[in-house]
Amino acid sequence: MQVVAMKIYEMTALELRDAIIRGEYKVEEVVSAFLERIEKDPLNCYITVVKEQALEEARKKDKEIKEYTPDKVPPLFGVPIAVKDNISTKGIRTTCASRMLENYVPVFDATVVELLKQAGAIIVGKTNMDEFAMGSTNETSYFGPVLNPWDRSRVPGGSSGGSAATVAARQVPLALGTDTGGSIRAPASYCGIVGLKPTYGMVSRYGLIAYADSLEQIGPMARTVEDLALLFDVIERYDPRDSTSVPPKFRPSTGRHLQELRTIFPEEISGLRMALISELMSEGIESEVSHSIMRSVEIFEKYDIMVDEISIPELRYALPAYYIIAMAEASSNLARYDGIRYGFSSGAPGKFYDVIAENRRLGFGEEVRRRILLGTFVLSAGYYGQYYLKALKVRRLIKEALDRAFKSFDILISPTMPILPPKLGERIKDPLTLYLMDLCTVPANLAGVPALSIPCAFVNGLPVGMQLMAPPFHEDVLFKAAYIFQKETRLYEMSPPV
Ligand code: GLN
Repeated sequence: MQVVAMKIYEMTALELRDAIIRGEYKVEEVVSAFLERIEKDPLNCYITVVKEQALEEARKKDKEIKEYTPDKVPPLFGVPIAVKDNISTKGIRTTCASRMLENYVPVFDATVVELLKQAGAIIVGKTNMDEFAMGSTNETSYFGPVLNPWDRSRVPGGSSGGSAATVAARQVPLALGTDTGGSIRAPASYCGIVGLKPTYGMVSRYGLIAYADSLEQIGPMARTVEDLALLFDVIERYDPRDSTSVPPKFRPSTGRHLQELRTIFPEEISGLRMALISELMSEGIESEVSHSIMRSVEIFEKYDIMVDEISIPELRYALPAYYIIAMAEASSNLARYDGIRYGFSSGAPGKFYDVIAENRRLGFGEEVRRRILLGTFVLSAGYYGQYYLKALKVRRLIKEALDRAFKSFDILISPTMPILPPKLGERIKDPLTLYLMDLCTVPANLAGVPALSIPCAFVNGLPVGMQLMAPPFHEDVLFKAAYIFQKETRLYEMSPPV
C-alpha cells in the first residue's frame, strides 16, 4: 500500500512540532510551506506579513535544535503563528486595522508575544481585524474586510476575523485573537475552528492596545482542541506588568491543560453537569442554529450526560449593559489618539482643538467615531447615573446569576452566534443589527468567565459554532468537554474550499 504523506499545511501544531523533533522536516521547510499559502491568500487575512523575518528565525531554529534533547524542546518549537494586529510586536507594525495607527511600530513586545517567542513559535504576520476590535464581521477594518473561507461572499466574523480565517484556510496552524465581547468566539464559529476566551486575568493584557479593559482577554485560536490547549498553556501566566493579572496563589496549576487531555478518564466526563440556556435558544436565534445545537448536545448522552435546560432571565439585559460599558471604556482609551502625542496627523495647520478634531475625524472610521461619541455621552455628568452606573449594576446582576447557575451546572451551553454568517455588507449598514450578533457571547465577558466555541455542525456548507461556558478558572472543564465532543464529531477534518 502506498502511504501518501500528509501535506505540511494540513498538520496541526502538535504534529508539526513532533515532526520537527523527529527530524522529518526542517523548520524552514515548515515555515515556507505556510508562507507560500499566505502569499496566495484570497481572503485578506493579513495586514502585515513578515516573510523574511520568519524565514530567518526558522533557519536559526534549525541550527538551535541540536542544543535540545527531545524532551526539552520548547512547546511551540518551529510552529508558525499569526498574531492579531492589536497586540504589540516589537519592530513589527501594529495598526489595530486603523488609519490612526497605520504606521505605528511598537518598541516592545506584548507579554504574550514574549511568551510565544520563548516557546519557540515563529510569528509569520499580523492579522486583519475590525478597527480597534470594534465589530462582529471584520468589515470595519481600514484595510478592507476579511472574507469567509467557506463562502467568500460572507463575513468571517469579527473582530479577530483574520486570525480565524487564516487558521481555517490552513495558512497557519495557530493564531492569537482578542475577545472583548465575543471577538475570538464569533469568528471561530463562522470559520469553523475552535477559540477560547479565557477567564479574566488569566492571560496578560500588557501590550494589548486597549479597547475596553474590564472586558477583554487575549486568547488562543486553533483547529483542534489539543492545539488550543497547547497554545493556552503557553500564554496563561501571571504578569506583574498587568495589574489585572491573577497572581499565582489564586490560579489553578499553570501549563497542564494539554497534558490533562492526554490522560482524560471517561469518569471525569460522565460526571459533568450541563445545561442549555433557554434565553439563548429562543428569541433572536435562527432556527437552523438552535436545531444544530439541540442535535449536538445529544452527543454528550454517549457519555451518560443528560443536558438540562436553565433559564437565566438576567441575560436579556446583557447586550445593552455590554455596549454601554464597552463604549464608555473605549471613549476613554481612545482619547490619547490626537495626532500630536499619538497617531495619524493630517498635517493641516489650524487652532489646537480644530487640528485634533480633524486628525480624529480622518484617523478613525465611522464605527469607532460612533462609539467614542456614545461612550462620552454615557459618561457625561448628566447621564452617568442613568446609563453607565445602571449598566454596572446590571453587570453585577448577570455575574451573580451566572454564579448561581454554576452551583447547579459545570457547563452552560448556547449557540456562539445567533445567526449563520451573513453576506458581506448586509449587517454593517445598521449598527443595531450588528450589535445583536453579540447576544450569546457578551455574558461571559461581563462576568469574566471562560468560554469556548467549537464547530458543531454545517448548515448549507456554513459552519455553526457551539459555545461552552464554565465558572472562572475552569478552562480545564471546557477543554475536556470540547475534546470529547471533537472526538465524536471530527469536524476539524473538514477543509474549506481555499
Ligand atoms: N462585537 C463586539 C463589539 O464590537 C465585540 C468585539 C470584541 O470582542 N472585540 O464590541
